[in-house]
Amino acid sequence: MIDEARRLAPRFAARAAEHDRDGSFPAADFADLRDAGFFGLMTPKRLGGAGASFADYAAVAYELARGNGATALIFNMHASVTGALAGVSDELAEALGLADEALRARDDHLRAAATGSWYAVAMSERGAGSRLSKITTSYEHMDGGYRIKGAKTFCSGAGHADAYLVAARSADDPDQVSQFLVPAGDGLRVEPTWDALGMRATGSHDLQIDVTVPPGALLGGVEGLALVIAQLAPHWMVASYAAVYVGVARAAVDAAVEHVNQRKLGHLPAIRARIGRADAAVAAAHLAVMEAARRVDEQPGEAETTRWVWRAKLLAGTTAAEVAASMLEAAGTSAMRRGHPLERLYRDARAGSLQPATSDVCADWLGVDALGGDPDSEGSAPRW
Ligand SMILES: Cc1cc2nc3c(=O)[nH]c(=O)nc-3n(C[C@H](O)[C@H](O)[C@H](O)COP(=O)(O)OP(=O)(O)OC[C@H]3O[C@@H](n4cnc5c(N)ncnc54)[C@H](O)[C@@H]3O)c2cc1C
Repeated sequence: MIDEARRLAPRFAARAAEHDRDGSFPAADFADLRDAGFFGLMTPKRLGGAGASFADYAAVAYELARGNGATALIFNMHASVTGALAGVSDELAEALGLADEALRARDDHLRAAATGSWYAVAMSERGAGSRLSKITTSYEHMDGGYRIKGAKTFCSGAGHADAYLVAARSADDPDQVSQFLVPAGDGLRVEPTWDALGMRATGSHDLQIDVTVPPGALLGGVEGLALVIAQLAPHWMVASYAAVYVGVARAAVDAAVEHVNQRKLGHLPAIRARIGRADAAVAAAHLAVMEAARRVDEQPGEAETTRWVWRAKLLAGTTAAEVAASMLEAAGTSAMRRGHPLERLYRDARAGSLQPATSDVCADWLGVDALGGDPDSEGSAPRW
């Protein structure tokens, strides 16, 4: 799948400028991903998927993002849903007290992904961001299922996914935040609000929700699991975008090298040094992301693994923004024109630090930890 991602990346790159300009969904990229079997990347082999590990995912995301960061970011949402579902092992299911029906529903969602369905994430809300403890979308029990009502924002790929992971709060017991997989269709209305500085092709529009879903849509079959899963699998919530933004940073270096060679500017020491520094910074951030991913697979849940997860997100977001800015400066004003790859990459890279956990939040988490505190409970605001 990593080779396949490398094969697809230049096709994505060729289409990226148009989707960035129009803020349009990269439909042809997604057709390519579906045809190549990427929607089943995280689905276990026993259910017809590729059975990828988190490190496999990180390697794939990095390659896809070298083609188009926006495509890779939308795909990240699908990988997060399927990866987190696949991560609910039978042992964890037993520890959480999940019923057999919930495990069957998990398998059905994963099998559907392997046969070409893809899922978006509708978690964030205006005012709450992605902090699960603050969301206001609510659900209540109905005969034969749940009624979910609320408004989401920043939903990448809105209007194109087959189903949406929706986080909502129980109207009966507001302490319970649960997650549902809601099929596209009646009850979900996209408001085309996304006209952003960067990652424009993610089409991260608002989503109005007023829908009734059957009991099987409640992920895990138990209410109140959303925060538990966020804490058990911080890599999907914190570090999965990291590989995307390192891929964007590498694409910025590649675009600068191409520009500098075409313009015959490579003899200038200041330009050479900028490219050299950028190359080293991207390689270092990439190593940190892959180290975090390796630890997630080999030593899940260990304190040092969690530290690497937060380090990876911080380094990836900060490096992407700094490298893309420096590469634009190395290339000069002609690279600032609309349509030049560096102009787009500069804007796309800017989103990395802003996407939760923001670089400031990652730094705070790591600082509290380094000073001997408990970084999950001692933030200046709830982490989730
Ligand atoms: C390109 C892109 C695609 C996205 N796609 C999706 C998607 O598909 N689905 C989805 O649900 N969401 C998505 N998001 C949204 C994202 O996950 C966040 O919810 C969103 O960026 C939060 O924005 P906010 O403006 O509410 O900022 P906040 O995260 O609230 O941050 C605002 C400021 O407060 C600071 N801050 C926040 N929390 C803390 C804290 N605990 N302690 C200290 N300081 C804090 C931040 O550093 C920042 O300076 C996407 C975002 C981007 C940029």
